[in-house]
Formats: sequence, structure tokens, C-alpha cells
Amino acid sequence: MNNPQVKSIKHMAFAVRNAEAALETYSRFLDVPADTKVLEYAKSRNRVALFMLGGIEYQLCQSMDADGRFAAWIDQRNAEGLHHICYEVTDINAALEHAQAHGASLRICKACGVYGSHPHPEGYVAFLDNDAGGIEIEFMQVYTAEELEQYQKVQGI
Ligand SMILES: [Zn+2]
Repeated sequence: MNNPQVKSIKHMAFAVRNAEAALETYSRFLDVPADTKVLEYAKSRNRVALFMLGGIEYQLCQSMDADGRFAAWIDQRNAEGLHHICYEVTDINAALEHAQAHGASLRICKACGVYGSHPHPEGYVAFLDNDAGGIEIEFMQVYTAEELEQYQKVQGI
């Protein structure tokens, strides 16, 4: 029954109203690298503070637009919080097949307008339309060095 493709947590993404303020709080109370900065991602229209904490990648995500993915989510619940957990999988197609065989369906990637596995900067990702304990599930098959090179070539990076 358990999904044998799931290896580890790739990242946890938190929806926040203000990435600097959230980062400041994490830095004050926890062990966050001092050089952590808030970066702007023009394509997904997000501002993100990304750091490793306890061996897990944290992403504090603020929408740049009032109706953006994270802003809309905060408005809907009237609260910031854990938006999704991304699980690294060995083979994303096998992971999705397994999940779908056990009743999952796919959720659209709002940044790309795509259902199911598709390329992102770090790997192939997909979202399930079945929140677990209220938390969205993302799968990522991290690129090999060759796949990363190919992705960056296509994107003109
Ligand atoms: Zn996408």
C-alpha cells in the first residue's frame, strides 16, 4: 500500500505574507544560515527565503501579486502556514501511477498550467489533488546532472 518511490522530503513550502518578516523570526529562534536572503522568482511571481534547517529545505514563499498562489491560499484560510511538502521520488511516473492506483488524482501546477509530471528548475514535479492532513503533496524526481544541463540549455540559462 505504501508508495515505494518516496525517498525523502525535498522541501517544505510555507505560505507567508512577508518573506523578510518570516525569515527574521526563523533566524531569531532557530538555526538559519546567516547569509539567507529573500530571492525574487519572476516566472512564478514569488519572493522566497530558502534555507536548510534540521537537514530539510525550507521555503518561505510570498506571492508578488495579491491574487498569487500563496496570497490566495492565505486569504482563503485567513492564516499563513505549511502550504505543501515536496517529496523526492525515485521515479515520478511510477510514484504517480502508484498514487493514482490508490485513488489519487492530479492537481494543476498553477505556475505552469500543467497536470502531472513536467519539468521545473530542479526536477520533474507533479501535484496530487489529495491533501494529506490538510497539506498538499508534491512529488519531485530530481534531475541527474545530464537532465539538469538539458533543462538549462532549453531554458537558455
Ligand atoms: Zn510547474
